[in-house]
Amino acid sequence: MPPSIAIHGGAGNLEKYRNTGRLEEAEMFLARLIDGLYADALNGMGAIDLVTKAVVILEDCGLFHAGKGSSPNSQGVIEMDASIMRGDTQQAAGVIAVSAVKNPILLARHIMENTPHVLVHGAAAEELATSANLEHVGASYFVPCDEIGAAIDARSQGTVGAVVRDVRGMMAAATSTGGILRKAAGRVGDSPIIGAGTFARNLVGAVSCTGIGEFFIRSAAASQTISRIELLGETATAAAGQILESIHRMGGEGGIITIGQRGECAMLFNTQGMYRAAIDSRGERTVAIF
Ligand code: ASP
Repeated sequence: MPPSIAIHGGAGNLEKYRNTGRLEEAEMFLARLIDGLYADALNGMGAIDLVTKAVVILEDCGLFHAGKGSSPNSQGVIEMDASIMRGDTQQAAGVIAVSAVKNPILLARHIMENTPHVLVHGAAAEELATSANLEHVGASYFVPCDEIGAAIDARSQGTVGAVVRDVRGMMAAATSTGGILRKAAGRVGDSPIIGAGTFARNLVGAVSCTGIGEFFIRSAAASQTISRIELLGETATAAAGQILESIHRMGGEGGIITIGQRGECAMLFNTQGMYRAAIDSRGERTVAIF
């Protein structure tokens, strides 16, 4: 069957980047990335490999608030979260508050595939990464992506994520973040939490969220989007729209990318913008910010 892929680089107050060159750079980056991933998907790459590859590239680029682009918390420490889920077996894992793992998504995948656990945090997670020979980086590696945001707007955030239905119908989702800018030390958002920031179920859908994580946890945003598709027969757009609407009513904001049962892609947000790109099962390509 034709593959579908959607990626995001976070939702938020992106108007502040107008006339900085950042938006154009991000858009070109996302366009190249979605085209490359789509070619990989047509060549038969599986959903888990595709979402992993997408998120590693987004973590490494430094344009978004994850991986290299992560900014320090209120105590000056980088604390990154990530999660991944496969849609066939519902195997999943998340990693919380790692500071020196270059690609938190690779550690989440390692936990999913090689341990009986779903969530591992902090120093023990760093040790696990060492034993898995994952790359570590020092503080000088990070280039906090949101210097402009820090100067203008205290409530700034960002995340990266990917959702895929591959040519065999396998679905997967992955999300990685540096969290809310200048978040309190120890604060954990939705991104590492299965069912909040990330969820996937074959024949139903795959979801990755971005936004103020507290609201996404309280509304179990990713799993509720999937449940609405499965139990109410809603489209990806309708289901994610309902969840974002309820988050808005609670005072929250953010975005949700979803692939639905028929390989349709929905990329919704209730912020000024969301870095996003997709190629759906009809081959329709979207690359946009606002
Ligand atoms: N959801 C992330 C968090 O709350 C931040 C974001 O997506 O912008 O940590």
